[in-house]
Amino acid sequence: MSSSVIDFIATEARFGARNYEPIGVVLSRGEGVWVWDTQGNRYLDCLSAYSAVSQGHCHPKILAAMVEQAHRLTLTSRAFHNDQLALFYEEIAALTGSHKVLPMNSGAEAVESAIKSVRKWGYEVKGVPDGQAEIIVCANNFHGRTLGVVGFSTDPETRGHFGPFAPGFKVIPFGDAAALAEAINPNTVAFLVEPIQGEAGVVIPPAGYFTEVRELCTANNVMLVLDEIQTGLGRTGKLLAEQHEGIEADVTLLGKALSGGFYPVSAVLSNNDVLGTLRPGQHGSTFGGNPLACAVARAAMRVLVEEGMIENAARQGARFLEGLKDIRANTIREVRGRGLMLAVELHPEPGRARRYCEALQAKGILAKDTHEHTIRIAPPLVITSDQVDWALERFAAILTQDFS
Ligand SMILES: *Cc1c(COP(=O)(O)O)cnc(C)c1O
Repeated sequence: MSSSVIDFIATEARFGARNYEPIGVVLSRGEGVWVWDTQGNRYLDCLSAYSAVSQGHCHPKILAAMVEQAHRLTLTSRAFHNDQLALFYEEIAALTGSHKVLPMNSGAEAVESAIKSVRKWGYEVKGVPDGQAEIIVCANNFHGRTLGVVGFSTDPETRGHFGPFAPGFKVIPFGDAAALAEAINPNTVAFLVEPIQGEAGVVIPPAGYFTEVRELCTANNVMLVLDEIQTGLGRTGKLLAEQHEGIEADVTLLGKALSGGFYPVSAVLSNNDVLGTLRPGQHGSTFGGNPLACAVARAAMRVLVEEGMIENAARQGARFLEGLKDIRANTIREVRGRGLMLAVELHPEPGRARRYCEALQAKGILAKDTHEHTIRIAPPLVITSDQVDWALERFAAILTQDFS
């Protein structure tokens, strides 16, 4: 490593809160599926900023929309109207079939906003006694890092020593519809769940789970809130992961790829009166719905559709999954995925996945370990067959070695 690289890493460590443990690479440029470090080494990005860069790094059309809008108007606050928000609403509603939209910035803010909205709906529409609303969530969930959200996490690292936490959440196992049926009571306002648990290691629920979940929620007047912040916008090979299950959520949360990685943009979408309970002054965000965010998100959604990225995610995801399944290696416990949301689970051993990710880095692939023994693979949705094959060669070369 050159001295400058050591300086970047050492300076981060000296001044920064150490709430991350990055792989030892300092990136300075990106284009499509590729990123380059400060020394000019090229890597295939198999993380895509946790699926925020689904459209590929520095997509030229999103970039152009951002620069053009930045020259005209960036922030008005919602105290005034701007000429981008209405168009963003129209386009995201048309794309997703939603009726109401609440624009926010980060994913966690969208989750918080959904929690506030379904509680209000519970009190004002469903008739739950004030202060009694319950929301059901799943074990091993990941919905962000705010205090409200980590309070119902089941991961000791995520919640440890951050309490006390807000009451009103009930945790059930993921993929278990009978547990949901048992947990619902008259005060239940919502079931908040990821279609596929991403941070937990790309955990796909059993077939038919969401059909039962949908029926239970409908029968009990419980809002089904799908956190599609990671699974949404084509990542799993469909626009929304709910489409694999043939269901529709009452509330859908989007973030990450909603801006193609240029800017924090998130949204709460609903197809009923949940968002209708919010009145002026009851919820807001200085940056939420700003014209720069709206222009960026509009371009990000447009290229996703126009350039066939969702279909490509399905096609290349199938190719990638098949290729990974063909790798014969003692270290692999399971390979799974849907679309370009893939994971290789290794036989458990502390730090094993991290060592494989470091070996992959040396071969020109950036992937991220999760939970000690799972390698998550989520390249931009613009990846080509040749690039998938290029990656598979390297995965095969590394996974068949022993880094224990
Ligand atoms: C990333 C993520 C979030 C949080 O998004 P931030 O923008 O980091 O706040 C919430 N839910 C899911 C499923 C995510 O993957």
